[in-house]
Amino acid sequence: MARERLYLFDTTLRDGAQTNGVDFTLADKLAIASMLDDLGIDYVEGGYPGANPTDTDFFSESRGLRGKFTAFGMTRRPGRSASNDPGLAALLEAKADAICFVAKAWDYHVRVALETTEEENLASIRDSVKAAKAKGREVLLDCEHFFDGYKANPKYAIECAKSAYDEGARWVVLCDTNGGTLPHEVEEIVGAVCKVIPGDHVGIHAHNDTEQAVANSFAAVRAGARQIQGTLNGLGERCGNANLVSIIPTLKLKPEFTGKFEIGVSDAQLHKLTQVSHALDERLNRAPNRHAPYVGESAFATKAGIHASAIMKDPATYEHTAPEAIGNRRKVMVSEQAGKSNILAELERIGIKADKDDPRIGRLLEIVKERETAGYAYEAADASFEMLARRTLGTVPNYFDVTQFDVNVEQRNNAKGERVTVTMAVVKVKVGEDNLISAAEGNGPVNALDLALRKDLGKYQRYIDGLSLTDYRVRILNGGTEAVTRVLIESEDENGERWTTIGVSPNIIEASFQALMDSIIYKLVKSGAPA
Ligand SMILES: [Zn+2]
Repeated sequence: MARERLYLFDTTLRDGAQTNGVDFTLADKLAIASMLDDLGIDYVEGGYPGANPTDTDFFSESRGLRGKFTAFGMTRRPGRSASNDPGLAALLEAKADAICFVAKAWDYHVRVALETTEEENLASIRDSVKAAKAKGREVLLDCEHFFDGYKANPKYAIECAKSAYDEGARWVVLCDTNGGTLPHEVEEIVGAVCKVIPGDHVGIHAHNDTEQAVANSFAAVRAGARQIQGTLNGLGERCGNANLVSIIPTLKLKPEFTGKFEIGVSDAQLHKLTQVSHALDERLNRAPNRHAPYVGESAFATKAGIHASAIMKDPATYEHTAPEAIGNRRKVMVSEQAGKSNILAELERIGIKADKDDPRIGRLLEIVKERETAGYAYEAADASFEMLARRTLGTVPNYFDVTQFDVNVEQRNNAKGERVTVTMAVVKVKVGEDNLISAAEGNGPVNALDLALRKDLGKYQRYIDGLSLTDYRVRILNGGTEAVTRVLIESEDENGERWTTIGVSPNIIEASFQALMDSIIYKLVKSGAPA
């Protein structure tokens, strides 16, 4: 039997950007959009063009996604024509494949918040859909407060949705805007809507205020809806949106759904889910939730004892699904054997051939364990892991030695009597027989050190000319008796390849230096620089 197509719509970059403490830059948005696209998400909602400079910039180019790049905005304002509304004009200008309008679907909100008539609200929906269709865009309508609106006035709520559908909107999305609706209510109300609008044109947008956004999304699918909106890691205002990181594996792995539905995420893409979830947290500079379903570090961790020995015999005894399917790992105690196989799997992934009986593998495992205890997180810093592995296996040439560095931060009055902070770094490097000295000023100690370090590497300079530092994140860890600093540096080369390196030390400059060195050496290895 042919399976029905179920569509995934991600709103991390729009609704997720409402999360307290989250403020995406254009670089963040580009990186997250490409991550979502690589995951196989059907619609990537990028933001609200015209509402702020970042979103307007983001939509100034098409961004070449495989999924549909979607702009979000309001329907035309009441009392204006569609052609005389600057907000709508900015939305229609956006280089988007699809436009998702938001409109009121609750008569009370139409009167009180919008201060207009029910009829004018319907006309605004129709006109906006028509204008976007005329521009060749696929159109979605987010019906705000749909469930509360339906409870207050079902006829009007459905009329709002129906007027968009009749005008040619591809999707009508039912939003549980304040997140208070319960799964049995969602199922009943979505069922009623699907009698009027075909379910393959109906979507669900759930918020997590009763911790049931994921359950509400599935309730809507059971009732006929065929699009689910959500965010990575459940990011979103207040308690968040429906978490796509939990929804996707359930759709892919649970027979109730996988037997009936097909989604855009392949098995291979599902393998990347854990990595995607953690990459988002790293970007937000927050620690991943260890207990997150499917992708958390503890999601498949079992303490030693009767469960562990049963799991060793057959994992299915205590696991609801196989961790490898979502790129997670089973954790049973930290036995030498289990650790070794993790290391070997990791080496294979980055293309390093190793023999499982090679004593250096055991040594590498020891070092990784020691360092992770000290605060290193190699999962977030692939390039540093690769450097550590290659060093332990003896395959990294000694390109150069930094014999000395010196960073000086000075605060003083300048000639105009203004207080200024000046930072300068001096680095002494030995390349072969050459002793090189470079100095650089920077806007801070790490920046100055980075500039000085990369200023002159003698015969290796040409290999690192295209190297640039794209992100720098610092976290203070309270491990043991003293706080240590963990620095993660993301670098990019002339081909757009990105990698992350790590450094840990009680001293932030020392931690940064480690991460900078790993990044430079990684680039030399990758470019095949001769020893
Ligand atoms: Zn929302």
